[in-house]
Amino acid sequence: METDWMTRGKCRDMDPAVFFPSDGVGVQAAQRICADCPERMPCLEYALQNHIDHGVWGGASERERRRLLRQRRLTVVRSRS
Ligand code: SF4
Repeated sequence: METDWMTRGKCRDMDPAVFFPSDGVGVQAAQRICADCPERMPCLEYALQNHIDHGVWGGASERERRRLLRQRRLTVVRSRS
């Protein structure tokens, strides 16, 4: 999987800890940074495909990514039936 986007992300020179917050306020702070990142989509896709549980990726929280993965699984199941 291509990872060049990591060198172009808005967070490239930031403390990674910002994107692994311990509370909702921290999640929102990270999401504000991601909001106008040019690499938001590949970042989110990377986290989804690699089943990364922790942190904010592509502007999506852990809970939001779990929901996206659930929706994808349901879409695959429905397309097979
Ligand atoms: S979307 Fe957020 S976590 Fe992903 S590269 Fe951009 S700033 Fe970093």
